[in-house]
Amino acid sequence: MAVAEGTTPIDPTALRDALDVANIPTLVPLLFQLTGDPKWTRDPYRPTRPRGTDDHDDAGLPADVRDEIRAAVAEAVLAWAAGRPVARPAPTGRELLDLLTLSVGEEVPEEYEPMTAEHMGFRAKCPPTVATPGSADFHVLVIGAGVSGLTAAKHLRDLGISHTVVEKNPRVGGTWIENRYPGCGVDTPSYLYSLSFFPRAWTHHFGKRGELETYLDELATHFGLLDSIRFGTTAVSAAWDDDTERWTVVVRDPQGRERTLTANALISAVGQLNVPKIPDLPGLADFHGPVFHSARWPEDLDLRGRTVAVIGTGASAMQIVPAVAGEVAALDVYQRSPQWVSPNKNYFRPVGDKVHWLMENVPYYRAWYRFRLAWAHNDRVHASLQKDPDWPHPERSLNATNDGHRRFFTRYILDQLDGRPDLVEKALPDYPPFGKRMLLDNGWFAALRRPGVELITASVTALTRTGVVTSTGEERPADIVVLATGFEAHRPIRYDIVGRGGQVLRDLWGEDDARAYLGITTPGFPNLFFMYGPNTNLGHGGSFIFLAESQIDYITDSLCRMVNEDISSIECRPEVGERYNEALDQAHQRMVWTHQGMDTWYRNSKGRVVTNMPWRVVDYWTMTRAVDLDDFVVRHRPAAAGQAPGA
Ligand code: NAP
Repeated sequence: MAVAEGTTPIDPTALRDALDVANIPTLVPLLFQLTGDPKWTRDPYRPTRPRGTDDHDDAGLPADVRDEIRAAVAEAVLAWAAGRPVARPAPTGRELLDLLTLSVGEEVPEEYEPMTAEHMGFRAKCPPTVATPGSADFHVLVIGAGVSGLTAAKHLRDLGISHTVVEKNPRVGGTWIENRYPGCGVDTPSYLYSLSFFPRAWTHHFGKRGELETYLDELATHFGLLDSIRFGTTAVSAAWDDDTERWTVVVRDPQGRERTLTANALISAVGQLNVPKIPDLPGLADFHGPVFHSARWPEDLDLRGRTVAVIGTGASAMQIVPAVAGEVAALDVYQRSPQWVSPNKNYFRPVGDKVHWLMENVPYYRAWYRFRLAWAHNDRVHASLQKDPDWPHPERSLNATNDGHRRFFTRYILDQLDGRPDLVEKALPDYPPFGKRMLLDNGWFAALRRPGVELITASVTALTRTGVVTSTGEERPADIVVLATGFEAHRPIRYDIVGRGGQVLRDLWGEDDARAYLGITTPGFPNLFFMYGPNTNLGHGGSFIFLAESQIDYITDSLCRMVNEDISSIECRPEVGERYNEALDQAHQRMVWTHQGMDTWYRNSKGRVVTNMPWRVVDYWTMTRAVDLDDFVVRHRPAAAGQAPGA
């Protein structure tokens, strides 16, 4: 973050007022940066290590120490605003690591330095560039205008690379406009689930769908992305032409006509969680009332006085059930397996104007706050998701730390369901925490306790015209059935992709075995890049947006190399793809998602984990930092062939 010196008039009253609510572990390192005084890095000012993932606002320090820190920050910010230069404007190396460690209260390993220095703006990122922006004969087609597609469009626009985006919906937003169910929102903190190049003053720590929709609309407008997007346009098929070394993509336009587009490179940004998974239940078509998937919530659906059945208890149901429980006459929740649920003190908290003020006015506040969120949410539990071969209780947990997590979450469930042993029996999972996606408590247990809400664990076998039938033979009446049953995450790409030599991607991957190098590129499919592709879902926590930004950095690096070096195609070498996926499978064998005795949508029908990444965020950032063209078969344009090295 570049901080201008002495140019910002600061209202001292507003400053002191805002500092009252400041996050102390965020203030301490920036105080050192502003003043250069090492005393702030020592006791008694060192924040303690937080437990769990909450913000740890008081840093575990006594009130008088906190007041001293706030007063010193006020003085330092006012001095800075009056023209005093920042003492340590861009800490890097050991100094940065020490400050990171200071802020989070635990050792931050060295490998986090390069990523964090860039993310915090302390070391300039070397973005790829094109020598001749706007090169007329190089065009990229992006499929999808959700978070990934918009990120791609923004970067391509910055680079001056000609591009078109096709989007099946009438507007941008992807998952955040398709999922419109009550209660829908992020369960990653909003200040982490935001793009690094487009900060926002979020109203809540965990933003709801509508605010995300606004955020993405504003982003598209702010960066002038709308002109490049063809809305209401669905990709039907894509085929690689080895002669022209271009992709030919057939799309269906808003009038239903098929059109053909061509492009040198294709970025498929259609998401993993886009195609609703509809259970094959007898009687589904005959049900008398509305029956729909959670991602197809009907507009203006009136739930008042109705008996509603929700099938499924995953992340979507976790948000729907508490949001509608107070409105309906009766609510039946059909649970196939229970979920581990974590509390978060900030979940319902608004952010407030004072925090917005700090983010806008106090140098480095936003950067340090975001780093702390990243530290707490991105990789912190990764080590605890590895199986300990000597652990004596593999039936319930993976290792001693995971067992500790189990005890913590169990206590939470027992506490939430105190006095309801019937619900405890149904709601307590028997598999290790993190085996399925961890959920954040959205008021789930409180909703289950409400009169009129029933948690049903018998499996759903059919629908009748008027209700839901379970394996016990019982038929329970319902007016509305919500299928919160997840997505076809193993087959998210619904258009045909035909690569070199007529190879069909669907044949290569089969029904549910998608694989790609870095989740981005697949041998046999030159100049094709995926965003949020195979094995790039985060199961250990963290923000998917970090990965989207890593992916677009890698993709744009590849594209710039192509434009600058007259490369007509790059195709991942088969042995590179194989090596990567072997390492990935082996890593997964050591991790929680291959734990037996539970099921998860992360695994395919053969038990292979096909959605999730086994690496830490920092590992993926390092792997995707720059393209290594040795990983690819590289072909040059005829005119340049013979001149370029490695052709
Ligand atoms: P999901 O996590 O796959 O949950 C589907 C639920 O439906 C599970 O409880 C599953 O049971 C159950 N189910 C599936 N088929 C069934 C059947 N035939 N009969 C009875 N129950 C059935 O789907 P989701 O809740 O839509 O979430 C998918 C993913 O989307 C999440 O994991 C997350 O990555 C993302 N998401 C994120 C947010 C957020 O950020 N706030 C919100 C929603 C979704 P089993 O567990 O036994 O399979």
